[in-house]
Amino acid sequence: MTAPRALDGLPCLECARPLLFDEANGWVVCATAQCVAMGMEMPLWRAARRRDAADPNPAGWPRPLLGGLPVPWITVVAAGRAWFRHLHGDRLRDCQTGWLCQVCGELLPELAWVVVTEEGHVVTPAGMHQRCRVLATSRCPHLQAAGRRLRDVEVTRERIISGGRPWAQVRSPVSWQDWTLLGDKLTLSTVNAHMVIHSPAARGCG
Ligand SMILES: [Zn+2]
Ligand SMILES: [Zn+2]
Repeated sequence: MTAPRALDGLPCLECARPLLFDEANGWVVCATAQCVAMGMEMPLWRAARRRDAADPNPAGWPRPLLGGLPVPWITVVAAGRAWFRHLHGDRLRDCQTGWLCQVCGELLPELAWVVVTEEGHVVTPAGMHQRCRVLATSRCPHLQAAGRRLRDVEVTRERIISGGRPWAQVRSPVSWQDWTLLGDKLTLSTVNAHMVIHSPAARGCG
């Protein structure tokens, strides 16, 4: 656990001094005593979204590279780097409601891939294209770290329970929801079981 630290490259919009970033929860705050924004916390992705610069992590394929790694569309890019542990909240919500791919941001086909735990919880709850699944599971450092057994499952929207409700009944949620899979046929539909290490950090990395 690290203490919040000044994030060079992401100044406060009010006082222009660096925001403090708490890597543990992904939130930033201005700590300048005289600033009108002092103490106003927000997620890193929201602070980055308020900048006027061109989107450094647009939807599309192939994915942009930062630090030699392909960057998923739902990864927060701020202060010149990709924060693989932190999810872009609005984008993840849009992936869920619009049936968009979390890796490339483009529309998914009828059948899409999700990564699920043994209990049926979807890890980083949004779908992926086949090409994007391969990229995420082969290149994502967090999905290759230590953890428990995860499975890649190909699903339709009808299999998704989003925030406790069937996908088709979910209307304009304010934020993204946890996903689980309907039914108990995981072993039948599991095409490519694979062993990966899952830590909480993996949530930010497809
Ligand atoms: Zn400030
Ligand atoms: Zn994709």
